[in-house]
Amino acid sequence: MTTLTLPDHLMALDARDPLAHKRSEFHLPRGVVYLDGNSLGALPRRVPERVAQVAQGEWGEQLIRSWTAGAEEGRDWMALPDRVAAKIARLIGAAPHEVAVGDSTSVNTFKVLAAALGVAQPGRRIILTDAENFPTDLYVAQGLNALLGGTLELRRVPADDIETHLTDDVAVLLLTQVDYRTGRRLDLKGITAQAQAKGTVTVWDLAHSAGAFPVDLNGAGADFAVGCGYKFLNGGPGAPAFLFAAERHHAQAPVAISGWMGHADPFEMARDFTPAPGARRFVAGTPMVLSLSALDEALDVFADVDMEALRAKSLSLTDTFIELLEPLTARFPLTLVTPLDHARRGSQVSYRHPQAREVMADLIAAGIIGDFRTPDILRFGFTPLYHSHADVWQAARGVQAALEARA
Ligand SMILES: *Cc1c(COP(=O)(O)O)cnc(C)c1O
Repeated sequence: MTTLTLPDHLMALDARDPLAHKRSEFHLPRGVVYLDGNSLGALPRRVPERVAQVAQGEWGEQLIRSWTAGAEEGRDWMALPDRVAAKIARLIGAAPHEVAVGDSTSVNTFKVLAAALGVAQPGRRIILTDAENFPTDLYVAQGLNALLGGTLELRRVPADDIETHLTDDVAVLLLTQVDYRTGRRLDLKGITAQAQAKGTVTVWDLAHSAGAFPVDLNGAGADFAVGCGYKFLNGGPGAPAFLFAAERHHAQAPVAISGWMGHADPFEMARDFTPAPGARRFVAGTPMVLSLSALDEALDVFADVDMEALRAKSLSLTDTFIELLEPLTARFPLTLVTPLDHARRGSQVSYRHPQAREVMADLIAAGIIGDFRTPDILRFGFTPLYHSHADVWQAARGVQAALEARA
């Protein structure tokens, strides 16, 4: 059971938190513990001003000149996707020219899946994936298969059995690193190596990884990846997503959505598609300037952040939450589903509860905002940039109160 006042050891952890100063860079509504930054990241304070400036100054005053104006100082709209890509690249262990920004994660999944199939070994037709993968990843694979006349096989197996199913006829392995329900984290490097030993091309969905902990795609030798701009990157609702294509694939990988903004020289208006250098070729259409500007500004919050320190704090926050709730698992039908093993944990903690939907509604009414996920999951996301151990303690007290009120 949690005590009435913040325990000393948690106060001490907050007192020596190297990221404590980052909290002031976010707008956080009063009276709320926001544990849903893994669904929609909180608003970085500098974003509204930037969006207003882009709208009024650049759109309003400069109008079409903004596409090229300020190119020397890096303010032109044309290269905005590339500047945002460079900021994301740093967080995911990629080179800037291996990242393309724009569209949704779903659309980017289509692009990289098509690219991965294009460089996969000839004759292979199996896409291997986690049976519990996020729906959009499964749906996009189904849609691509239908487009290809049903010539592929989407093989769905439990994540723990991936290794046994990685046979040498699998074309592409499509995995989400952190499970959106349980928060279980996969070994990106180890699984990539296993897949490549079988000649299989990897596609990683980093929706709950990018900005949540350090990711090292090139250190893992990963082939392709996608990720989300509005979760741990705090780019705002519907923020542009990103994709990663390892440099060694640029020459061979097909560009399935070969739009003019991925052309080497868009305003040449040539008849045939000549891809731009690097991953820019995957930027299909006109950059979404307003939302890209918000994401660009939001990413600057990470500029001085040591991602190893961020990971250490994330684990400390999730450990603390698990410890505080541990006594409740004996009193209530509350079951931890997030791995205790640090290596296998993302930046969220989830529990099963038979009335999870109702419990989460109670919690949200009490200002503890997490998520309910079907069928019976209570999901709490932790964002080291703006959470303290005091927040974790307050959230744990809220969970206890909600469970006691319902029992
Ligand atoms: C949130 C999420 C997405 C989001 O896809 P959108 O196209 O942005 O809606 C994709 N994959 C996973 C694993 C996610 O958690």
